This record gives sequence, C-alpha cells and structure tokens, in this order.
Amino acid sequence: MSDRVRLPLLAPEEFQSSLASDGHRRFVYAAEVHGRFHGLRRIVFALLVAIWIAVPLIPLNGHPLVLLDVQRRSFYFFGATFNSQDAWLAFFAITAVGWTLALSTSLLGRAFCGYACPQTVFLDGVFRPIERLVEGSREKRMRRDKGPWTWEKIGRKLLKHVLFAGAAFVIAHITLSFFVPLPQTLRMVVHSPAEHPEAFAWAAAVTLVTYGNFAFFREQLCLVICPYGRLQASLVDDDSLVTDADSVVESWMHIEIDRETDPADLHQIETTIQGVLGDVREAVEDWPRMLRQAATVADELAAQPPATVPAGEVDEAVDLLRWLIDDHFTFLGYREYVLDQ
Ligand code: SF4
Repeated sequence: MSDRVRLPLLAPEEFQSSLASDGHRRFVYAAEVHGRFHGLRRIVFALLVAIWIAVPLIPLNGHPLVLLDVQRRSFYFFGATFNSQDAWLAFFAITAVGWTLALSTSLLGRAFCGYACPQTVFLDGVFRPIERLVEGSREKRMRRDKGPWTWEKIGRKLLKHVLFAGAAFVIAHITLSFFVPLPQTLRMVVHSPAEHPEAFAWAAAVTLVTYGNFAFFREQLCLVICPYGRLQASLVDDDSLVTDADSVVESWMHIEIDRETDPADLHQIETTIQGVLGDVREAVEDWPRMLRQAATVADELAAQPPATVPAGEVDEAVDLLRWLIDDHFTFLGYREYVLDQ
C-alpha cells in the first residue's frame, strides 16, 4: 500500500541558497556524504586527477601527450603536431565540446558539474577533504567559526591555509606544465625568479588564483562566473535527470498485514493506516513552520537572554536549537511551556 505525500515547496525566504536575497553570501559548510554515487564520484575524481597529471608527463613521438607551446606556436596532441596555421581546427574541437555538453546536460542534467568539472574535482576531491581533516566535521567547523578566536582555532586555520597554498602551488604548476614542458617547469621552480621573471609571474598568478578560488570563492564561481552554469536551465526539460525544487519526493513505507476477512477488522486496519498517513502528512506540512519557529526561538534567546539563566546555558540552548534546525532532527510537533520558577 502506498500514498504519495508531496513535500511542501519552500517559500523564497526558507530556501537556503548560498546567496541571500540582499546579495550577501551565506558560507556553505558542505557535509560529508556517503553512498553509492558518492563512492563513484571519488573514483572518477581520482581517475581524472591521475590522467591530468599523466598527460603532460607521458611522451609520444618526442613530445608530451599534450603540450601547448604558445611561445613557439607549436601544439602537440597525442602524437600529432599543429601550428598556428591550424588554429581554425580549434573551432571544430570547441564546437564538439559545446554540443557534447549540451547533449549530456539535456540527458543527465548536471552530471558534468558533479563528476568532471575541475572546479568540483579539486574542491570536493582535494580541498574539502583537507578542510575536513584539519578542522573536523561540518558541525565542528560551524561551531568553531561562530566561536571566539582561540589558539586552537588559529592553529587549525593556519595549518589548513598552508596546506591549501601547497595544494594550489602543485595544481598551478601541473597546469602550467601543459604550456611549458614539465622538466623545464621544475628547473625554473628551483632557480631564482630573476632568471625567468615572466614564467615566475605566471606561476605566482595561477597559484594565487587557484588558492583564492578553492579557499574562499568556491561555489560562487558557478553562481556568478561560469557561463555553463547559467545556461543549464535552458538545456534541461522534464525528461532530464535532475532534481529540482518542484520534484515529488517520495518516502516508502512497508506495511505487512495478515489476510483478514472480517469487515470490522478491515475497517480497523484501514482507520489505523489512514491515521498514520494523516500524522505523516501533518508533520511534513508543518515541518517548515516548526523549523521557522525553532529559528525564531533561537534568535530571541540569543538577542534577549533570560536574566535568571546563566549565559553559558543560554548559549548552549541556542547552539542546540540551531544544530537541530540544521537537518539533524525531525520536528514532529511544537508545544509552548511557560517557565514560571
Ligand atoms: S557550474 Fe560551471 S564551474 Fe560550476 S561545477 Fe558546473 S561547470 Fe563547473
């Protein structure tokens, strides 16, 4: 037996976007998720990073698999050599990539974004794992960020950013080795910048941009810069594999009953099941209102802490309420009590 429950659509003020309606940013604290598709993503990330590292390293016909030697106007792709007169061929390559992206989006939605975009691969595959390793789970990071600056917090932040800078340095230099052969890049790294100021400026700029993007800018790149991100809404239709705010979210209940024939028993069973489904429906419909109410109570407590309760306990209650609101608890009902002593 099944009954569909349509989750209430969130009102605009309840929809949690990383951009608030007044334009300011809400920082995204990504939770660690597990599951089949997440496992698959990790494998794809590892494969893509391995290919990306290998491509400028593996030689074929005397050149790396891919080398864009802009200075000499020579471009090497998997054993073939092109020069500046062949630039028109890029039109076909770029068009093919564009059509492939459009087709994959119309069929599979944001599969490229989730599995293969360098922004996702490096953010979710490299930088967020570093962040989790150094600063702990999402809840710990949120609590620490809201809390005062302590030596422990400073130490963790410092370590995280040093590791981020190291990762950005490596990523930037491997990226540059698509333009300058890797042995030459490595030679430049160990020599004085004064010997190759132009290359040093490029390496420093790419490292800085990579660090800034993955340490701070993150999903804002998708929201405000990436043209593909802006086009996606026009590339999908009802048959595309996407979840959106208008999807019907289903939750299955498995109910086993004995074979009954007595009309009174059947009526009793039906009444009980209808009662359970009614409770579920009411809880689901009331859930955004209960979340809102809990948030209001937390805000009121933080703004006007009761004079008779120690400040530490009030803070703890506010933290607990905010943690519960943050998808850690299923609100089934709401009741108000008056504390009169
Ligand atoms: S929106 Fe653009 S930058 Fe963001 S994940 Fe998708 S392709 Fe990458």
